[in-house]
Amino acid sequence: MIDSLYRDLIIDHYKFPRNFRRIESATVVKEGDNPLCGDKITLYLKVENGKVVDVSFEGSGCAISQASTSLLTETVKGKQVEEIKCIVGEFLAMLTEGKQPSVDLGKLLALEGVKNYPMRVKCATLGWHTLEQALKEIG
Ligand code: ZN
Repeated sequence: MIDSLYRDLIIDHYKFPRNFRRIESATVVKEGDNPLCGDKITLYLKVENGKVVDVSFEGSGCAISQASTSLLTETVKGKQVEEIKCIVGEFLAMLTEGKQPSVDLGKLLALEGVKNYPMRVKCATLGWHTLEQALKEIG
């Protein structure tokens, strides 16, 4: 499905999810689920002056959904909301439209192979769609 280097990264993030905790003082808390696979996540964002100063998640489900959300938290932490919106757009376009990203998505490219497996795309994009909704609430 995905080459072994990328597979190892995904398994590592599944077994040892990064930023897997609750943020009590979160600016936005957003839940997302993918009933097709049984994936569930809750995303916590703490935003100050247009910047995501902290981000975390809790959840359960398949390796792709949890690893993707773990990678998400690593990617967006410390970034400006506007920059994050751009990354979210590029990531979703890569997986849902097979579009070549125009910004460097770094480790997120580990999930690119998922685009060839439509049933798993919803797993990989769950956290990102949830993030998109959360950012809309911030405005
Ligand atoms: Zn899944």
